[in-house]
Amino acid sequence: MLAKKYSEEMIGIRRHLHAHPELSYLEFETSKFVQQKLSELHIPFEIKATTGVIGLIEGKNPGKRVVALRADMDALPIIEENDLPYKSTIPGVMHACGHDVHTSCLLGAAKILSELKDEWEGTVKLIFQPGEEKNPGGASLLIKEGVLENPAPQSIFGLHVHTILDVGKLSFRGGMVMASADEIYITIKGKGGHAAAPQFTADTILIASNLIVSLQQIVSRNNNPFNPSVLSITSFQGGNTTNVIPSEVNLMGTFRAMDEAWRFKAHDLIKKISTELVHSMGAEIDIRIDVGYPFVLNNELLSAAARSKAEAYLGKENVSETELRMGAEDFAFYSHKIPACFFRLGTRNEAKGITIGGHTPTFDVDENAIEIGMGMMALFGATNAE
Ligand SMILES: [Zn+2]
Ligand SMILES: [Zn+2]
Repeated sequence: MLAKKYSEEMIGIRRHLHAHPELSYLEFETSKFVQQKLSELHIPFEIKATTGVIGLIEGKNPGKRVVALRADMDALPIIEENDLPYKSTIPGVMHACGHDVHTSCLLGAAKILSELKDEWEGTVKLIFQPGEEKNPGGASLLIKEGVLENPAPQSIFGLHVHTILDVGKLSFRGGMVMASADEIYITIKGKGGHAAAPQFTADTILIASNLIVSLQQIVSRNNNPFNPSVLSITSFQGGNTTNVIPSEVNLMGTFRAMDEAWRFKAHDLIKKISTELVHSMGAEIDIRIDVGYPFVLNNELLSAAARSKAEAYLGKENVSETELRMGAEDFAFYSHKIPACFFRLGTRNEAKGITIGGHTPTFDVDENAIEIGMGMMALFGATNAE
């Protein structure tokens, strides 16, 4: 009921945020805006990780339980191509992942929860988080600064807009749901020379080509076929003409998994195979793996309970199982610390032409989803999905 009452206001907030996007870790205006909205609701808050805003709402019997609700606030370095009245006013920056929606949903939930605080028990910790889109992940910084302590939440909920799910629907999944993501950087250095005299060179182009083929055998030959994992080499740079063998080639790629033991075993294999192969072909190698976010692990019991709540709220026909995805999300950091539920909010509307995926210049959402997102977050905050 209250979600419906406040949905116009939260759509207005979403449009304001959409028009004023800020890049990861630079969410200064967004942070001030959230602080101002919490102040208007008389919700106390503290600042963590420079732009993060952590609010606390106490219901009856505040010590009974603590539930954390998280929204990310950052935008992407994309030039918006939508022709909307609330189009981005910041050149080259766009809310193209829906974090403006997430922030609005959490502000809406905060408004509902503080209005009804005599009707629910426990404490709700609001986490308005910076830097989801960029390593090391705002979630990891907030955890280092103690966001999961004083008071310590027993569970955490987060939502993400979903462009393949129709507006009016939600999806849940227990267990693994999104992947870890680590970045691979390789430099191969060898003796360059005339392309007509390869016998005097260590051909970095050929070595890199062999290496890519070998790296592709790591997942296929060492990983359990039932364990989702993928390695993609996404950049190959070297040489600039037809008659010179270059002395350096640079490769980049990404490695993703849903199992922490396999993840780090694979890192060792990537380094070992790369080093041995390149050395055996007479060149030198620099290899670096930047460790990113772990995989998102949804607590089975919490997610099942949340799903039942959602079914009661929206009807069984409007709730489905989230499909596995090899994308990454820094909510993962929380999910390895406390029971977590990361769920999907349908924002697709084919009739309105809203079908484009995230991280694109024409990404858009059906804003009617905001009412559902904030209602659901408020319900989880007030009940811990019990
Ligand atoms: Zn994103
Ligand atoms: Zn996102």
